[in-house]
Amino acid sequence: MNYDTDNIFAKILRGEIPATRVYEDSETLVFMDIMPRADGHILVIPKTPCRNVLDATPDQLTAVMKTVQKMSRALMSCFDADGITLQQFNEAAGGQEVFHLHFHLLPRQAGDHLRA
Ligand code: ADP
Repeated sequence: MNYDTDNIFAKILRGEIPATRVYEDSETLVFMDIMPRADGHILVIPKTPCRNVLDATPDQLTAVMKTVQKMSRALMSCFDADGITLQQFNEAAGGQEVFHLHFHLLPRQAGDHLRA
């Protein structure tokens, strides 16, 4: 599948545009979503080119999901959350707007509603 090296998350990875980085390891980067739909809304991405789940290698999925779990546990603690919503979109018809694989992590409080 084609990978557009000019997508906004590729630019964040190259340091060409700013992001509020909260965690990174050799394979993944985590930063705050610029339009948070919940307090603590973060995005987890692989550092290597990957359009979405349809395009991902097993190693990319493993690395990303390990970080998703680590960050979910951290959000539960840091935001005193009652739960975490994971969201992930694939291709335009699936709701994807930025074409670099990413998972949304949204801390939730009992009875809350996500912002639009
Ligand atoms: P959707 O916009 O429907 O959630 P995506 O799953 O492709 O589709 O999400 C892209 C996400 O990237 C959005 O939540 C958006 O707020 C976020 N975003 C866009 N530009 C930036 C940026 N420069 N820094 C951080 N987050 C960004």
